Amino acid sequence: MSNNQQTLGFQTEVKQLLQLMIHSLYSNKEIFLRELISNASDAADKLRFKALSAPELYEGDGDLKVRIRFDEKKGTLTVSDNGIGMTREQAMEHLGTIAKSGTKEFLTALGQDQAKDSQLIGQFGVGFYSAFIVADKVEVRSRAAGVPANQGVLWTSAGEGEYSVEDIEKKERGTEITLFLREDEKEFLNEWRLREIIGKYSDHIGLPVEILTKEFDDEGKETGVKWEKINKAQALWTRAKGEISDEEYKEFYKHISHDFADPLVWQHNKVEGNQEYTSLLYVPSKAPWDLFNRDQKHGLKLYVQRVFIMDDAEVFMPNYLRFMRGLLDSNDLPLNVSREILQDNKTTAALRKALTKRALQMLEKLAKDEPEKYALFWKEFGLVLKEGVGEDFANREQIAKLFRFASTHTDSSEQTVSLEDYIARMKEGQKAVYYITADSYVAAKNSPHLELFNKKGIEVLLLSDRIDEWMLSYLTEFDGKPLQSVTKADLDLGDLADKAEEEKEKAQDEALSGFVDRVKTLLGERVKNVRLTHRLTDTPAVVSTDNDQMTTQMAKLFAMSGQPVPEVKYTFELNPDHNLVKKVAALADESAFANWVELLLEQAMLSERGTLDNPAAFIKRVNTLLAG
Ligand code: ADP
Repeated sequence: MSNNQQTLGFQTEVKQLLQLMIHSLYSNKEIFLRELISNASDAADKLRFKALSAPELYEGDGDLKVRIRFDEKKGTLTVSDNGIGMTREQAMEHLGTIAKSGTKEFLTALGQDQAKDSQLIGQFGVGFYSAFIVADKVEVRSRAAGVPANQGVLWTSAGEGEYSVEDIEKKERGTEITLFLREDEKEFLNEWRLREIIGKYSDHIGLPVEILTKEFDDEGKETGVKWEKINKAQALWTRAKGEISDEEYKEFYKHISHDFADPLVWQHNKVEGNQEYTSLLYVPSKAPWDLFNRDQKHGLKLYVQRVFIMDDAEVFMPNYLRFMRGLLDSNDLPLNVSREILQDNKTTAALRKALTKRALQMLEKLAKDEPEKYALFWKEFGLVLKEGVGEDFANREQIAKLFRFASTHTDSSEQTVSLEDYIARMKEGQKAVYYITADSYVAAKNSPHLELFNKKGIEVLLLSDRIDEWMLSYLTEFDGKPLQSVTKADLDLGDLADKAEEEKEKAQDEALSGFVDRVKTLLGERVKNVRLTHRLTDTPAVVSTDNDQMTTQMAKLFAMSGQPVPEVKYTFELNPDHNLVKKVAALADESAFANWVELLLEQAMLSERGTLDNPAAFIKRVNTLLAG
């Protein structure tokens, strides 16, 4: 009889993953058992869900569990479950390929540094393949719920380049995975070692985990074997908060998120009354590798009345909180809820609102109580959170409160200053929150636009993330104070201006008005305006835009995204206290005057935009002037 055997090559990504994993996870190899139990638990969840509408899938056996046994002589460890099972096609698909997009690029970037790889690869979630860390051959026998016993499948692989599948008869529904342990991994063929690992990793999952234990008589003679349940087998979130240890919360996080690292914080809430639900939200400590992938899977695990309904239910969290992990167990949603129903549902909307609030409060609390941890969070997820001011108007102020920036009042490029910190130390008479945007921290920090602010000791936030300009188009004020760019020509310092100085400046302006007119005539339509500025100390000239005009950074973003950019016309501002400007103002020769003015304008443009339209002309001019 043909059993229709087929040998197939793994998808390239799987081969890469297997190779990397065996080396980088070797120091933490016992996690393979956690991964297999976690998969069994998912398979049980999936069966329960399907059986809601098709109870016959239980085939008279609704007592779902996972069983672990070992055989010292054969050197095998077997993990079996009576969950949803797999068909031949499913086994080929799920155990031969990795469906996530971007995997190839991710894996290719690994392989340089083992310590780092193990962290990254853990984050990636290796699941079933982790069996090959300890086994040199793995056999998977499976039969899907609801199909006849002769439609079972045997999947076998040595974890190298290929695997084979064949049809088998399998009476019991579900999946049985047998690991042929490597010669030096026999430590797992030990009841106490297994108890220890399972206790550590699997106490919190809802599915009973049983191991086959030996029974002895009074004289110590072996009399038989029996299955013994060795975990609590009560879904963690259904237990009382006070009874759950931090370790259990952390392990549960790893189970649901497929992350190997501990979460940063979590919050577990039971809500009764109008809405009845339990939520358990986690903030990961590391951003997932595909956080900015458009089709990155995210969202909460959804349960309805303790029955698993779906993974990655993204409707319960806004996009800017897509890094949040966890679960929601609702008593108000119907058991037959689908993604489509969730999309347009009053209960969903109310839950999303409540969970968003909860997540924001959780972050606020973290920022207040554990600033070092919050700093880690901000490094990993700050960019995503910034999307929030454009996405969630109702919570804008609360989101903005969570932002952290670099500033002229701190010594490093670290983003640590909150808008509240800033406002608390504003100068007397200061009405606005001042900021500058640039391509990099260094460019922002050294911008000539800061000179006056530095002189007066007024703090300026230094913004250099790509998203900042976009973010600022939504965040125009905070706590009633406008956010004001320091590069604006019409910047009004209000009460911060110094009256005595103003008098002196006015006199200067009048004395040099002829010079300003001369420059205007020379530059004509190329600039929006020419004027003197008293905001500079060390720099002879800058260019600036008006409040109602697009800033340079914004224009760059437009250009980068391929959108038409309206021409930015700058105001050319000259510093009358600067020696170079004084020298130019005194030049009688028209052609020398023109050369110097052009040079000042080019310098100002270069400093503002980082590039020039005609660099060759600039170099030529500099050389001519240098040669004298
Ligand atoms: P993940 O669990 O992250 O999806 P895995 O590599 O662990 O990745 O598993 C891949 C897929 O194989 C699972 O998504 C599931 O569809 C299937 N699978 C693994 N173990 C089992 C099992 N015990 N029962 C049924 N299906 C399973």
